Amino acid sequence: MSEIHIPVLRNEITALMNPEPGGIYVDATVGLGGHSICILDKSFPTGQLVGIDRDACALAIAKKRLCTYKERFRLIHGNYADLPKLLESHGFYTVDGVLMDLGVSSLQIDTPERGFSFQHSGPLDMRMDRQICVSATQIINDSTPDKLIRVFTEYGEERYTKKIVKQIIAERERKPINTTHHLANIIENVYSSNTKYSKRPSNKNKSIHPATRVFQALRIEVNAELDNLTLGLEAAVSVLKPGGCLCVISFHSLEDRIVKQIFRKHGKACICPPKTPICICEHKKSLRVITNKPVNPTADEIELNPRARSAKLRAAIRV
Ligand code: SAH
Repeated sequence: MSEIHIPVLRNEITALMNPEPGGIYVDATVGLGGHSICILDKSFPTGQLVGIDRDACALAIAKKRLCTYKERFRLIHGNYADLPKLLESHGFYTVDGVLMDLGVSSLQIDTPERGFSFQHSGPLDMRMDRQICVSATQIINDSTPDKLIRVFTEYGEERYTKKIVKQIIAERERKPINTTHHLANIIENVYSSNTKYSKRPSNKNKSIHPATRVFQALRIEVNAELDNLTLGLEAAVSVLKPGGCLCVISFHSLEDRIVKQIFRKHGKACICPPKTPICICEHKKSLRVITNKPVNPTADEIELNPRARSAKLRAAIRV
């Protein structure tokens, strides 16, 4: 089971967060519980952990993996954007540490029926929380061309956006695009008619699969990932005790940019526009950033766990 999803940068996180007995810690993206186990072990015997995830299937697995920790942990199904409300509903108000390990879990990527991956054939779904109504199928088949262009450009930085959208529109008039492979084939065809791209890139030239960016963009749109991240970071800052630590692992530049911006905003004593003669913002410094540069995984970790290769860890202390 521990092989299912190897927690990224676990030593670095436990060193920065320093979970201690008696502390209360939040794993806001509990996934399969890998990081939660590290936090519970490090805060033995009396540290408590609240684990949150949008994905009920992940929580069911995490519950089994954590069962030996008995009354030291609680799991909550919900969105980390609602962190204060979720904590309050379980009688917690402030905490000593919050971890956010962004993105998708191996469970989500490797389960074909979840529709996250172009590597597996499955329904085009991509909902982390299956209670939300709009899946990737609806976005691909019902959105205006302008909306698809915006999503692929903003969230995927896809260079053939217009050509891909044109093909999607033509194809969905013929037949709805309901599967991961149907969409991936449309994208592959656009790439192969525009570049010398080979469908099976060799390991030497480490080019990514042409569907990677569009799938990333769709996933972000379906789960409103960037809006939730902004809300989640603000929520995490608001529940930390002075001295409490916020650790965030991001996996692409759109996420990392938001983490950097929020850390910078809370790291300043004043956010008035430049040249404002006197401070009118009443903003207070609430974070001290303790990672001047993001912490990256070592070459050994990447070799052991390729998912770690694009991870960036930033951490800050509540002041
Ligand atoms: N650290 C975990 C893996 C986390 S993978 C481990 O060691 O196993 C990221 C997880 O974050 C996924 O399970 C995903 O469902 C969850 N997630 C993503 N966005 C979320 C949000 N807004 N609120 C709560 N959970 C979220």
